Amino acid sequence: MKWSFRLFTVAGTEVRVHATFFLLLIFVASQGFLSGQGLAVALESTLFILTMFACVVLHEFGHVIAARGYGIHTPDITLLPIGGVARLERMPRKPSQELVVAVSGPLVNIIIAAVIWIAFGIGAELSPGYDFLKTGHFFEKLMVWNVFMVVFNMIPAFPMDGGRVLRAVLAMFTDYGKATRLAASVGQGIAMLVVITMLLTSTFHPMLLLIAFFIFMAAGQEASAVTQQEATRNLRVRDAMLTDFRSLPSHATLRDGVDLLLAGSQQDFPVLDVHGGIRGILTRNDLISALADKSPDHLVIEAMSPCPESTAPATDLAQALETLQASPCPALPVIDPLSGELVGLLTSENVGEALMVRAALTKQRS
Ligand SMILES: [Zn+2]
Repeated sequence: MKWSFRLFTVAGTEVRVHATFFLLLIFVASQGFLSGQGLAVALESTLFILTMFACVVLHEFGHVIAARGYGIHTPDITLLPIGGVARLERMPRKPSQELVVAVSGPLVNIIIAAVIWIAFGIGAELSPGYDFLKTGHFFEKLMVWNVFMVVFNMIPAFPMDGGRVLRAVLAMFTDYGKATRLAASVGQGIAMLVVITMLLTSTFHPMLLLIAFFIFMAAGQEASAVTQQEATRNLRVRDAMLTDFRSLPSHATLRDGVDLLLAGSQQDFPVLDVHGGIRGILTRNDLISALADKSPDHLVIEAMSPCPESTAPATDLAQALETLQASPCPALPVIDPLSGELVGLLTSENVGEALMVRAALTKQRS
């Protein structure tokens, strides 16, 4: 995510914080200070906000640890003023696994709240108007915050954990795509209900309105992402790969690269050794930045991206797309497993075109 900074790394997962998060801290600290209650109050509320976000990080690590149990790695967690976002490599497709990963976050908050409750025996009323910034009762507020996180995250709407729980439960009875669209509709229904209630009771809650809008958009996005995944189903890499492309030999110079770039519309060129094996890909960016500080007689090998990931023509397209999206290179070399030769390139533009053609043909048939 842009504008985010690394705080620390735990077991291969980077914890990052977004720049806007500091604005929230400054806002809270200045509010405490300007309200005339002095430095101690400002410090306490700032400390409380930091503790709240420590609970958010622990919540996210609940998801991370559960996902790791299924062999899914989480490269990073980003803290935003509205909460945390754990970027899992992929979501488990098995409903039972998605269910476990989704509930593991809120489970952490239940444990924290229970520990505070057992240790201090405090009880507090949970209401939407609870003031987390009031002075005193540090642990009471922390307990309420954790209970609030459980309730909020279990709302059955994407992108909340409750939306994933709902989808996982529905997916046990129907297919994944249908379950997602159904769960997304439930989420959008809840968002609309919130807005209608606000209109009918003529109460205006800006934060609630923002959340309803956010939920409405996220539900639509989740549904269309899954619809796209479904479109690639039963397709192989060979159905969508680019086969008419130019390549460069490993002894080619940057000047040769420029000639190829200007001669056609292709932007990324595979660099091949004498046996036709791939050495890397010379992207347009590689070429342009190399020309800025190297002479055109330099070899392309010194400027190209290594692109170690590759795929085979018979590989499932959805799986190859995941590899392509995770790779820093704009194209995925398609290599024949028998001859070891480069037979195609998989780019997201080409996959997009293949899907459009497929959609048009399906429409014509029906
Ligand atoms: Zn969560």
